[in-house]
Amino acid sequence: MPMEPPNDQWHAGTEVIAQYNFQGRSAEDLPFSKGDLLVIRRATSDRMWYRACNTDGREGMIPANYVQPRKVVTLHAMPWYHGSISREETDTLLRYCEDGVFLVRDSIHFQGDCTLSVAIQGRIDHYRIMRREGQMEVDGGDCSFDSLIDLVQHYLEDADGLCTRLTRPVTKKGGTFGTVSLQEFKSGGWVINRQDLDIGEAIGKGDFGDVYKGVYKGQPVAIKQLKDKDRGEQSFLQEASVMTSLRHDNLVRLIGVVLGETIYLVTEFMGKGNLVEYLRSRGRSVITKKDQINFATDTCAAMEYLESKSLVHRDLAARNVLVHDDGKAKVSDFGLAKFGDFSQTGMKFPIKWTAPEALRENKFTSKSDMWSFGILLWEIYSFGRVPYPRIPLTDVVMHVERGYRMEAPEGCPPEIYSIMKQAWELKPEERPTFKSVLARLNNQRAVTV
Ligand code: ADP
Ligand code: MG
Repeated sequence: MPMEPPNDQWHAGTEVIAQYNFQGRSAEDLPFSKGDLLVIRRATSDRMWYRACNTDGREGMIPANYVQPRKVVTLHAMPWYHGSISREETDTLLRYCEDGVFLVRDSIHFQGDCTLSVAIQGRIDHYRIMRREGQMEVDGGDCSFDSLIDLVQHYLEDADGLCTRLTRPVTKKGGTFGTVSLQEFKSGGWVINRQDLDIGEAIGKGDFGDVYKGVYKGQPVAIKQLKDKDRGEQSFLQEASVMTSLRHDNLVRLIGVVLGETIYLVTEFMGKGNLVEYLRSRGRSVITKKDQINFATDTCAAMEYLESKSLVHRDLAARNVLVHDDGKAKVSDFGLAKFGDFSQTGMKFPIKWTAPEALRENKFTSKSDMWSFGILLWEIYSFGRVPYPRIPLTDVVMHVERGYRMEAPEGCPPEIYSIMKQAWELKPEERPTFKSVLARLNNQRAVTV
């Protein structure tokens, strides 16, 4: 039976998922099926009824107790997870610790698996944690878990076959990893049925798998397929989890994820592809001054939103900005936001886009995003050229630290170049905020014809 009406009122834009089928009683009503995504337009005088819109754009009345709002999927910190440290380092960390002190690290012998190392009576026991089809279990144990967090939680409560109950972790110094549980995607309303997805032609290649064009319930979508589930699953779902908490017109929107044999991440379809290819293929003959300032302002608006949430993107570049059919630019690729780190994913640092302090000391902040934004502006105004055109990659950092900066691209307005120069201040605190740059870009937009 349908549940009680919601306690708090939903505001316009709230996304809700149908929990039951609703046929409607009159032409005023919006019929829907269980699992449909609806967006609230407005409340009514009756708190049982809302005006809402479905993915086809049809509007009507819906009963509040037939639907539930989508929930944000959070990343949980795993302070005890040390990534790929060696057995010797593990011994150093756990030596002289009392019984039950533990850490988890990547397995050296079995790629994709982990090792649980536990101090016990002056020695250290190592248990293999096997990852099988998204489930984790300690070798020889008889429980399996959705995530490492659930597994650790279990053995913190009960030894259940280990040499001892886990007591406290040795925490990793210098930034911890985050993980997500599949269960939260399910209960949060983000899971899409594979049958509802029509997968079409391939449109791009990502680090974790190919990207396809497709259709979900009548709506064009982009579908990112995870190639190797045992390797990329956590990074892939981390990206999705960050996206569940973001809602901005200039951020690529997550529609949902498909869990199962193959994992897919489904996002809104951006028909004109990534910005760097867009700029290169059209060039000066097609792209106007107005287009350029619009791309700059759109991306800056998204970054101002991330800045206001203290979320650092870390990989801002024209290749990670996508262009919608209507010409609007949206920032994508949140794989590294929050807990991410290039060294963790095995990805290379995008040296030409990364601020010196981020390269040197791994210090990623909104100010290092601002540095990247300066490079992105340069890409926009040079129609997609590769930054630092005549400097070999290995020499870029040295030149930049000695004070070398790129010249203004041909035809770049002085105000835009002045923003670039400020974004490239060596001291992070001397770079402007996205908020202040957005105001300047909006002024520049107003005078651009
Ligand atoms: P990665 O995270 O590995 O960098 P991306 O998300 O950047 O992968 O996707 C790779 C390419 O696929 C993009 O450069 C773009 O051309 C295409 N693509 C990705 N997402 C979309 C989308 N939502 N709409 C249209 N094309 C997309
Ligand atoms: Mg990318």
